[in-house]
Amino acid sequence: MNRQRMDVTIVGGGMVGMAQAALLAVRCPQLRISLLEASSVEQPVRPDAYDARVVALTEASRNLLEETGAWQRIEGERECPYTQMRVWDAEGTGSVYFDCRDVKLPNLGHIVENNVILAALRARIEELPNVSMETGFKLESWWRDCGLWHLQARSPNREMIDGLDEQSPVYTTRLLVGADGARSRVRDLLRIRTRDVDYRQTALVCVARCEQSHQYTAWQRFLDTGPVAMLPLAGLGDDKHCAVVWSADDDLARELVMLDDKAFALNLEKAIESRLGSIESVSERFSFALRARHAESYFGPGAALIGDAAHSIHPLAGQGANLGLMDAQVLTEEVERALKRGISPAHVSVLSRYQRRRRGENASTLKAMSAFKSLFGAGDLQWRWLRNTGLSMVDASPMLKKRIIMRAMSV
Ligand SMILES: Cc1cc2nc3c(=O)[nH]c(=O)nc-3n(C[C@H](O)[C@H](O)[C@H](O)COP(=O)(O)OP(=O)(O)OC[C@H]3O[C@@H](n4cnc5c(N)ncnc54)[C@H](O)[C@@H]3O)c2cc1C
Repeated sequence: MNRQRMDVTIVGGGMVGMAQAALLAVRCPQLRISLLEASSVEQPVRPDAYDARVVALTEASRNLLEETGAWQRIEGERECPYTQMRVWDAEGTGSVYFDCRDVKLPNLGHIVENNVILAALRARIEELPNVSMETGFKLESWWRDCGLWHLQARSPNREMIDGLDEQSPVYTTRLLVGADGARSRVRDLLRIRTRDVDYRQTALVCVARCEQSHQYTAWQRFLDTGPVAMLPLAGLGDDKHCAVVWSADDDLARELVMLDDKAFALNLEKAIESRLGSIESVSERFSFALRARHAESYFGPGAALIGDAAHSIHPLAGQGANLGLMDAQVLTEEVERALKRGISPAHVSVLSRYQRRRRGENASTLKAMSAFKSLFGAGDLQWRWLRNTGLSMVDASPMLKKRIIMRAMSV
């Protein structure tokens, strides 16, 4: 049996798992780190087409990516800094306008395609001597003894063999990090329960080409069936492409998915009130069922959960990946602190400090998103009045706007 002894093994090579591996490797070069990813299919960055899935990166997330060395591969190529944000309510006159000049910053954040971030992190991981990444391997069996996890990754293509597979390697590790997404296997293995809320909404994502420039602005209109956002894209020669994130009640989403491109574009143009002129074309659409999910604990013996494995959230404020990246940052800080003190990075004190620093913060963001979703989904008059008055009050208060921007950017 091929045995690999590691200090840290991260299961899940999505955005958060890869960022975790790279940051730990950079900050703690003495650690041997492995990253196990189930999929062997890379999503290549196409020179002629955008990925429909994007992230609005906060300044704190951008800093983290810079520290890993991944941002340097993204900067100036396929990232779109946005300088303004316009948010308005479909049922009334309430609106808020945010401008980076109000906070004396060069931008409010960066819109980056998911596959661009993944490719940059992956290239960086290949350069780091103390991380090894295994793709096409799915965590299948495990056991724990003498304070160590023994993990077996089995190729999904190979025939299932009962119990242990003699062919595939066993990763023996002190610290196991579950970064394996919303349906985390590691979370199940640790028997950690989640609190779930089904939003009964589906997010449709695609790329739209508009008649007019996106003006380096993030546009979001709240309809009572859910918010529609158009986020500016850059890198392919013009300023007329936007990533669309349209969160709609399930019934409406089903109808929108069935439409042909022309009819969908017309519906989108109406939903965003033609703020960018006509929608000239739309790409293939992808849909995601929306559900809030929060793990009751972020750790078990010798193991921690990060990213969507610990929490998933409504995309209306574009915070899911940003929160996950902050988990990776805090876990790295705690591991570093433990190493300086001669404590095992898998010690319960390290993991409980990580949980203390992250769970409360993530819980308040999850609550705020659920409250927003309910407030903007409510059709009756007094709720409409409340949200329109609220939006107008925020818009009229430079102090409040400044606070919101600084909090949203995590600076
Ligand atoms: C429509 C939409 C728009 C969004 N917009 C934003 C935004 O603007 N800003 C933002 O911050 N967030 C946004 N998010 C959220 C963000 O996309 C997620 O929070 C983020 O991608 C989660 O990353 P992750 O690495 O934790 O999980 P994932 O991306 O789910 O990665 C998990 C990885 O683990 C692997 N895996 C699973 N099981 C196993 C196993 N047993 N063994 C090995 N590997 C395994 C999977 O193959 C996958 O690669 C959005 C989400 C949606 C749905």
